[in-house]
Amino acid sequence: MNLSVAGALSSKLPWVGTTIFTVMSKLASDTGAINLSQGFPGFDCSPELVALVEKYMKTGFNQYAPMTGVPVLREALAQKTELLYGVSYHPETEVTVTSGATEALFAAIMAVIRPGDEAIVFEPAYDSYIPAIELNGGIPVLVTLTPPAYAIDWTEVGRKITDKTRLIVVNTPQNPTGRVWTADDLAQLAALVKDRDIWIVSDEVYEHIRFDGRPHLSLATHPVLQERTFVCGSFGKTFHVTGWKIGYCLAPKELSVEFRKIHQYLTFSTITPVQYALADYLKNPVHYETLPDFYERKRNLFLEILRGSRFQFTPTEGSFFQTVSYRAITDEPDYDLAIRLTKEIGVASIPVSVFYRQKNDYNILRFCFAKDDEVLLQAGERLQRL
Ligand code: PMP
Ligand code: GLN
Repeated sequence: MNLSVAGALSSKLPWVGTTIFTVMSKLASDTGAINLSQGFPGFDCSPELVALVEKYMKTGFNQYAPMTGVPVLREALAQKTELLYGVSYHPETEVTVTSGATEALFAAIMAVIRPGDEAIVFEPAYDSYIPAIELNGGIPVLVTLTPPAYAIDWTEVGRKITDKTRLIVVNTPQNPTGRVWTADDLAQLAALVKDRDIWIVSDEVYEHIRFDGRPHLSLATHPVLQERTFVCGSFGKTFHVTGWKIGYCLAPKELSVEFRKIHQYLTFSTITPVQYALADYLKNPVHYETLPDFYERKRNLFLEILRGSRFQFTPTEGSFFQTVSYRAITDEPDYDLAIRLTKEIGVASIPVSVFYRQKNDYNILRFCFAKDDEVLLQAGERLQRL
């Protein structure tokens, strides 16, 4: 191709490069470091789940699934939501299976945002929200949360809502901070959006990973919020299958109609045998009810070792991430330190500044503790040396 023509394509996302997850995972792999950067389990999923996928592949469930997802999976999701949160979504019209939560988030944001609309985003923010808003012509309006508590200043949120605000993006438990929304957060948000044309995209992919007896307060549990919210979930986190990229969106009928119009042209449908397998697997609540304890033990193990280091932290409330302050060790920029630790001591992490638009550096690193115990012990031992 003529190079000058190719070079004439102006970027829709000029400030976006390769994601930090790819950068750090590659560096970990190139240097042989322990990879606590990108968030994914270091152990396998249940063999029972694999056997179910095999069963459905062998019995010929290998063609296109219905656009909205196979009925049994939509029903299983509706039942689980009713059981856990006491909210009913109609499986036919209000539950849609997607290719990962990433697709659900993108389709939901696209359904709401038109050029010039404002969207409130709490930062540090998971990396896909802002590009999705901007690709649809929206304007991200940031509310900055700061360590150690990352609490939301609701007066500030109120000040940032204008006539142009159409969307608020929520993420609880939050990546990267692990913060879990409280009943007060839900009430404050409800008071602000009530009687306004504001919709909510709620990223709840870590719904089953929260600690110390904290409940997950889905936005679906609050009536004022439920009627305007696209709840986005993922099986990747819950069943240790991040590579399967399968998620879903729960939303009232009118919202789901618009969501599905976009989903049908983004991906149309999602891998069929896996949907059948997940439908079976989801029917046993033990498969997700055991998750908080499973990850709480890993968090505690990791923190026990970190207590012998100079890192400072507050135990994470949810997700499989722990953020730590390294102020007592060095004043290097977090990005530089993450690279140096990977190369010099062999532990890869994520610098939290990347989750802020202005790259605010509070000297915090994020570690993923979804790893085998021996790996956590070995990483902790290396971190203690600092
Ligand atoms: N949201 C958050 C907060 C995440 O951490 C991730 C994770 N990887 C996703 C969405 C994407 O989920 P999925 O892999 O199902 O697309
Ligand atoms: N959610 C994962 C994380 O925060 C990464 C997902 C990705 O690589 N895009 O680490």
